[in-house]
Amino acid sequence: MRKIAVLTSGGDAPGMNAAVWAIIKLAAARDISVVGAEAGYDGLIDGNFQELTRELDEGGLAPVSGLDWLAGTGGTFLGSSRCPRFMEPEGRAEAAQRMSHAGVDGLIVIGGNGSLTGAHLLANECDVPVVGIPASIDNDVGGSTDAIGVDTALNTIIEACDRISDTARSHQRAFILEVMGRRSGYLAMAAAVAATADAVLLPEQPLDTDEILDQLESLLRRSFATDRSKRRVLIIKAEGVPTPTLLLADQLKERVADLDNVSVRTIVLGHLVRGGHPTFHDRLIAGRLALGALDALEARTTDVMVGWQSNIGTKTQDPQVSTVPLADMLVETEKLLDGTSDVTAMRMHLIREVQGVLAL
Ligand code: ADP
Repeated sequence: MRKIAVLTSGGDAPGMNAAVWAIIKLAAARDISVVGAEAGYDGLIDGNFQELTRELDEGGLAPVSGLDWLAGTGGTFLGSSRCPRFMEPEGRAEAAQRMSHAGVDGLIVIGGNGSLTGAHLLANECDVPVVGIPASIDNDVGGSTDAIGVDTALNTIIEACDRISDTARSHQRAFILEVMGRRSGYLAMAAAVAATADAVLLPEQPLDTDEILDQLESLLRRSFATDRSKRRVLIIKAEGVPTPTLLLADQLKERVADLDNVSVRTIVLGHLVRGGHPTFHDRLIAGRLALGALDALEARTTDVMVGWQSNIGTKTQDPQVSTVPLADMLVETEKLLDGTSDVTAMRMHLIREVQGVLAL
């Protein structure tokens, strides 16, 4: 293997840059040159490749200069995009042709389950081996306990919870804090436990608006009653819960209007959670998944993802990293999202156990 391409696609996640940096260095050390496709699949289709390694005078390869800041930064310096052209076979054929013209003999795709679906199709339609690395703050890629970016996003969320709690306690407030996660409530669930929230609302536990309001009203009445006299009530809500956060807060306010000195506020963290310096854990898994991906490409394995502490797939030389066929990843992702995966069942079992404790 002489030359590989790498791209980042879909929603950006902190640690994508760390993964790219690890790929560049590991590949250079093995005398494999690396190009980066700019803006995800758009760059692959248009042949926009950026050289990421350079030849040294004394022989061998090194990263191009000026990139050594990469590993510690959020976002993706290669750029990302939603690329409708790649959804069509013609777009993927164009991408395969561009890779072949550029002399690329392996591709690493870093992204979420949409990007990895594209990687699966490309792997089956072109001669170049394709390996995926899961990166998505939503943690909605089946076959990887953690995707790159999840740990950083959770650290940002719990810091926000701590800050909101400071002000909530000062004024005896209830806060409904909404976090990203359209189909997966993982961020809300994990943050609720770590931030010791009082309640968590998840798409995996569908309730209608009245049921939610009944539960929250009773939570507020109990929490602010004189024998408990909590100073703060923190309710974490996943974006995927259909009742809009503002509507929930307005109706909750009406229901507890008789409680003196208690107010209900909302905050939607939204994109604030996407950026920021990747944590140690995200940098660690970025580096180890990069090694697994490069090893897989060198073995000319294709149509696989490397997963972190995977419940499926084949272990690599790194006991925490497995290669998982992309077709199996897609099946596991669907099960993760529709609640039939063992992983989701265990998470829901644990959160049910904890929900009564959170409300205390
Ligand atoms: P993420 O990778 O974060 O889940 P998206 O779902 O937006 O983000 O996917 C990113 C890109 O991956 C899409 O814009 C498209 O180019 C490609 N992609 C997603 N789904 C498919 C699919 N079913 N077939 C081919 N390409 C896809």
